[in-house]
Amino acid sequence: MFEALGNKLQDILDRVGRESKLTDAQVKTAMREIRMALLEADVNFNVAKDFVAKVSEKAVGQEVTGSLNAGQTVVKLVHDELIETLGGESKQPTLKTDGNVWFMVGLQGAGKTTSTGKLAAFYKSKGRRVLLVAADTQRPAARDQLEVLAKQVGVPVLKVADGEAPQETRRRLDEYLRTDYRDLVIVDTAGRLQIDEALMDQLADLQTELAPSETLLVVDAMTGQEALNVARVFDERVKLSGLIITKMDGDARGGAALSARSVTGHPIYFAGTSEKLTGLEPFYPDRVAGRILG
Ligand code: GDP
Repeated sequence: MFEALGNKLQDILDRVGRESKLTDAQVKTAMREIRMALLEADVNFNVAKDFVAKVSEKAVGQEVTGSLNAGQTVVKLVHDELIETLGGESKQPTLKTDGNVWFMVGLQGAGKTTSTGKLAAFYKSKGRRVLLVAADTQRPAARDQLEVLAKQVGVPVLKVADGEAPQETRRRLDEYLRTDYRDLVIVDTAGRLQIDEALMDQLADLQTELAPSETLLVVDAMTGQEALNVARVFDERVKLSGLIITKMDGDARGGAALSARSVTGHPIYFAGTSEKLTGLEPFYPDRVAGRILG
């Protein structure tokens, strides 16, 4: 991922970086090229526009044009703005000492169930007592898939029955937790191929009942800008708190990942980097920016 974008940006910045002095016209040309490169990588139009506007504004503020090492200064400004666009400091979901309930939401195929298993493995390795709740009653094999993953990780799973009322799920969860202490409960909720009202109602009802402290949207990097439209709709109905971007190991152009933070206003907590249970990494904007710029 990010390969084509990375190569283009590197080309542009290599040229700029070599100049000890830059004219206004040279900076303008470089910014136009950067904007094009971002748009070609499927970065959201407004995000690309803002990106270039901010770098240009800072370049003017620092009066790089005509100054010594002007090229290097512009390169640094672009690097810093990439980090900012990706979310600045790396952020993690809030984890209290106990009573954590997290919701996993997203469209079918995004990698929700897989990411639920990965999170269980990640937090178990940090000493958390994780319980998974298999509440994806929509995709036929999802609950069995989660059970298999839970077994591999070595954590218990509570399966929601077809048509089970949210109040009943709450009751069964409370009952479970009375006999087996768990400090992190991760709920794999129902996904659909497309957003529909019935799905949103179902999700909102379960959310009201279980009152999760984090609602994490799992989005597929391969679906590009569409992933961000999906995020907007989910956010309206079941207020999101953060994102997990999957399939970062694929050959997506990267625009969705680059735009996600700005478009949704929510941090990217994790990136999915393979199909395996170990393929989940905390998202570090500075490392991703470094990777893009090589
Ligand atoms: P769900 O319908 O959202 O629960 O989707 P699944 O968890 O079943 O994932 C759909 C497909 O995407 C499966 O084949 C997963 O193995 C695959 N997948 C999930 N996350 C990643 C990832 O980060 N990288 C890759 N390469 N594949 C992934």
